[in-house]
Amino acid sequence: MVIDGMADRPIKELGYKTPLEAAITPKMDKMAEKGICGIMDPIKPGIRPGSDTSHISILGYDPYEVYTGRGPFEAAGVGVDVLPGDIAFRCNFSTVNNEGIITDRRAGRIRAGTDELAEYINGIKLDEDVQVIFKESTGHRAVLVLRGEGLSDQISDADPKHDGNAPKIVVALDGSEEANKTAEIVNKIVKKSYELLKNHPLNLKRINSGKPPANIIIPRGAGAVPKVQPFGKKYGLKPVCIAETGLIKGIAKIAGMELVDIEGATGGIDTNLENIKKGILETASKDFDFILINVDGADEAGHDGQMDEKVKFIEKVDTVIGEIMELEDVYFILTADHSTPISTMDHTGDPVPIVILGPEIRIDDVKYFNERSVAKGGLCRIRGNNIMDILMDLMNLSIKFGA
Ligand code: ZN
Ligand code: ZN
Repeated sequence: MVIDGMADRPIKELGYKTPLEAAITPKMDKMAEKGICGIMDPIKPGIRPGSDTSHISILGYDPYEVYTGRGPFEAAGVGVDVLPGDIAFRCNFSTVNNEGIITDRRAGRIRAGTDELAEYINGIKLDEDVQVIFKESTGHRAVLVLRGEGLSDQISDADPKHDGNAPKIVVALDGSEEANKTAEIVNKIVKKSYELLKNHPLNLKRINSGKPPANIIIPRGAGAVPKVQPFGKKYGLKPVCIAETGLIKGIAKIAGMELVDIEGATGGIDTNLENIKKGILETASKDFDFILINVDGADEAGHDGQMDEKVKFIEKVDTVIGEIMELEDVYFILTADHSTPISTMDHTGDPVPIVILGPEIRIDDVKYFNERSVAKGGLCRIRGNNIMDILMDLMNLSIKFGA
């Protein structure tokens, strides 16, 4: 179970405690007492992980090999059945004026109706022999996937990053024929999206009510869908994932895991943790060997610099964790995927706390679950990609190296 961005740095206002140290967490402390503790560098000491690269590492893959950018995982996370070699992009629905200048990169943070708009783009025919897959994501976001021969992800972004500019002309970054072809296709799609969306009924309605129309799509972050050995094959375990965000769901999907959707799981501090707990317990009672769980609220609070909210969210997680840790004949790991300190409002490379609970664990002397206490535990300092090796060994599913 990964509490996204839970770890932090000491904060003056908390008497130089971290939010996890300041939070009242009797259940997590009980876990520390009954388990083996340590700290973990999700990728390597001092490397600031993304949620994506960290989870890739924790699942036992090499992010430096597998990770080609966020696009493929986002696309898989919103339900596009991506294939290795597909080129995937993250997109915004944006607003352009008659002069072709972007006046609002997020189209007034449009929320409803993007599915109808996406239908106009999905499956459009181009002269090139390429399949165009387009699907809405949350809010003003969407994903674009190109499928066909001779494509490349070595191209620039159409997104100018700031309002007041025209969409950038996408160019090849490596001068290859494949990249040139892909860049040309993306430029065509951007242009065509405006033609298709500018008079869409939903946009005419938006204009009439004084809202900016979502009349163009702006792709960025091209990434080729990596070829990943399915997690189930790699470890001989039947895996499933309970996550809130498209990014983590996408990683699980590309790794061949089943997904469980939880009602009321928002990915924010207002998420329905009670439903998540029920979902975990129900999933654990089914025919699975491995459950990856990600809860995102602490990371959101960290990015927003909301110290009190982060403390409160950790305490809320603590109230649902008791029943999960009591599951029998199960190894349960509680950790984070990176630190998201209140002071930096983004991820840092500080190591994160980790505890493993289960049969035949060498219980250590640690009594509290927080960044500093666990550092004295029996696991000492490990890396994210040690987790699966340790688990497989504990479960006696490892093969001996040597005679
Ligand atoms: Zn994260
Ligand atoms: Zn984050």
